[in-house]
Amino acid sequence: MRHIVIAGLGSAGYAALMAIRRTSPGTRITVIDPKPRDLAHPCGIPYALGGQVPADGLEQDIYLNKMGVKKISGRVLAFDGAAHTVTVAADGEHALEYDAAIITTGAVPVLPPIKGLESVLYKGLYPLATTDDLKKIKGRLDSSVHGIVIGAGAIGLEAAIALRKHLKGIAILEMRSQILPGVLDPDMTEPVREHLESYGIGVHTDTQADGVIELNGFGGVTGGGNKYEGETGILSAGFRANTEAAGVSGLALDPLGIVVDGRMRTSSIDIYAAGDCAANWSIIDGSRLPVKLATGAYRMGIVAGINAAGGDAEYRGTAGTFVTRIGNLEVAGTGYTTQAARAAGYTPVEGKIRTTILPDYFPENTTISIKVLCDRMSGRFLGAQAVAERGAAERVNLVSMALETGMLPADFWRVELAYCPAVSEVVDPLNKAIEFALRRMAR
Ligand SMILES: Cc1cc2nc3c(=O)[nH]c(=O)nc-3n(C[C@H](O)[C@H](O)[C@H](O)COP(=O)(O)OP(=O)(O)OC[C@H]3O[C@@H](n4cnc5c(N)ncnc54)[C@H](O)[C@@H]3O)c2cc1C
Repeated sequence: MRHIVIAGLGSAGYAALMAIRRTSPGTRITVIDPKPRDLAHPCGIPYALGGQVPADGLEQDIYLNKMGVKKISGRVLAFDGAAHTVTVAADGEHALEYDAAIITTGAVPVLPPIKGLESVLYKGLYPLATTDDLKKIKGRLDSSVHGIVIGAGAIGLEAAIALRKHLKGIAILEMRSQILPGVLDPDMTEPVREHLESYGIGVHTDTQADGVIELNGFGGVTGGGNKYEGETGILSAGFRANTEAAGVSGLALDPLGIVVDGRMRTSSIDIYAAGDCAANWSIIDGSRLPVKLATGAYRMGIVAGINAAGGDAEYRGTAGTFVTRIGNLEVAGTGYTTQAARAAGYTPVEGKIRTTILPDYFPENTTISIKVLCDRMSGRFLGAQAVAERGAAERVNLVSMALETGMLPADFWRVELAYCPAVSEVVDPLNKAIEFALRRMAR
């Protein structure tokens, strides 16, 4: 019986497991993962920190033994591609034979060069990556008054809102000149920044945390010549692929992770990789992208699972489609930002509108800011961004679908979008933004 080993049970590992079972139900499957519970749900961590969801709901057992799947509680150390064996650390070291192996070891937090970081790491200043981190941060809150967040990406902003529910004041430090760098254009971040400030959160862009303030333990950070005091800090400076086992096994790596092809095959025969540990690429043009999202991990995992089990599936890349909820705002984006599009050699043309979602005559109306980016040369979509109390993701998702299918902006008016005045407008804000972009492209 064919034996497939899955190294790491997160989004990608779970998706691979299910895909193997569907593709080839008789396959023997062994999962290796160090977590005490089968699954954890990292995307829920900021919401558990804010008290919106119970922390214990983020860990789950899926009764692998009832599925006939063997679980080894341990870590994969290395693969021997020629011998088709994997070395596992679990009560000592063991070698396990496989016919195919799938590496889904995820990502680890980036630790930025902050003077004194080692002395306060996990002693007041924490990454926000695992349910263990969550427990440690929660345990610290009662003895804290102010909080610090380093990094203004989506996770950092979600964390800041969550911390604000417990602490008197929060300072976010971001070394770049805008919040949500790399995923929103600067003008689209304005309402998000104002919203954060309305919560009493200080947003300090162009401010790189460079040192630690020690006051009987963690007392805050320094940055840009200023002091930011706080007893609890969250380090949210991004993630890098966890390629440790792949690296020592001689698999091809690049700066974004394990090198894979569209079938999620690594450089070693019968070894696949999927999720945050694998180097990702753009669905638009195949260029490398530093995108690490559960959605992509899941889709890569399906492809790796199907192919490892003898089927045939292809992963075509990511648009980096994301949504986050920052307080009352839904913030979403897909594809390139203006800056990234220019850096990739495109000539982006934008269509942008800030408008109400419902007809003017309707009460309880809310506004949406939405921007689409199209390429002047090819006339194709390059991306979209939206900020609204509701309805941002649903519109960005439509552009994500257009990026996947190659649908042209000029054909978008053909798509029938549902309408009733209590929910939407007869001409949707997305259509209006596209129309503006098309007019500018025609000039
Ligand atoms: C706080 C937070 C919020 C997030 N919010 C969102 C969101 O809203 N939307 C979104 O799309 N994405 C979000 N993400 C990103 C998303 O969680 C990841 O992209 C996704 O979990 C990646 O899945 P994965 O399977 O590649 O890795 P993971 O889910 O991290 O799983 C990797 C697994 O490998 C195991 N492992 C590690 N090393 C070894 C080893 N040597 N041997 C065996 N097992 C090993 C780990 O224990 C882990 O279980 C968030 C991430 C965090 C941390």
